[in-house]
Amino acid sequence: MSKIVVTGSLHYDIMLQAHHRPEKGETVIGSGCHYKFGGKGGNQAVSAARAGAQVAFVGAVGADAHGVFLSDVLTANAIDISRLVIIEQVPSGMSVAISDAEGDYGAVVVSNANNHIPESAFSDAALWQQTQLLILQNEVPESVNVLAAQQAHKHGVIVCLNAAPARMMSQELQSNIDILVVNGVEARDLSGIDVTDLASARTATEKLCERFPAVVVTAGEYGVAFGLKGESASSLPAIPVELISTHGAGDCFVGVLCNALSQGENLAQACQRANEAAAAHVSRSAE
Ligand code: ADP
Repeated sequence: MSKIVVTGSLHYDIMLQAHHRPEKGETVIGSGCHYKFGGKGGNQAVSAARAGAQVAFVGAVGADAHGVFLSDVLTANAIDISRLVIIEQVPSGMSVAISDAEGDYGAVVVSNANNHIPESAFSDAALWQQTQLLILQNEVPESVNVLAAQQAHKHGVIVCLNAAPARMMSQELQSNIDILVVNGVEARDLSGIDVTDLASARTATEKLCERFPAVVVTAGEYGVAFGLKGESASSLPAIPVELISTHGAGDCFVGVLCNALSQGENLAQACQRANEAAAAHVSRSAE
């Protein structure tokens, strides 16, 4: 069993279903609602754990019922939460997502406690013992990602950044990333190349490989492109499935990809596993 450290966001998600998402000034009568565990950090930790990895989570929740719910879900997935801190007087992170009749969604995220991840956790050598890989995303302050990535490298741990949402990246962070994973929108923001199919996803991958040793560009219904610095990019078409919801597809992909990489599989093998798992994910309704 490989060990993965995940640091990142935990959100209490409110999921609303409606025929379409509201336009400016419009109120839409929805058709359903449920509450769910979320945040890219939390979702990727659960995905990696369910894929078979031993996962340790570094994060923060508020001293509220949502925080209890979030930490309970991590524990139920056998994730080590000994470095999950409770922040007094700051609510847990949360999001509201609206999915439409086509299964597409839009969301608003409020970070709250996720802005208070304990940076001291990363300098504890015990965190990195027997760890193969660190997973980061962009829903927490960049200073947390920089520190975590630097400490991971100091201990010989591979660093994977899911740059979601895309944002300016310091040289300090960029130079400590081994694998960049982005979706089509993020790939466009970081490379300037519009991702409209697998060919353009491969072009964006090659462009981003000028800055990162390994790059994966997920391209939704088209599939995934991937490549290593100095080599031509490859791609895999999406596996045809009946679409229920794309919510969390990228997080499922990242967790499975990183579990495979941490077990020594190469990038192509890991992308194949993740592409299969993400296809199964989009054909299930959100839990
Ligand atoms: P994100 O959720 O981060 O926006 P994507 O939409 O690119 O990420 O989806 C991630 C992965 O999920 C894709 O690379 C693909 O493997 C899988 N996927 C997404 N949409 C579909 C679909 N309609 N059919 C099959 N697989 C899909």
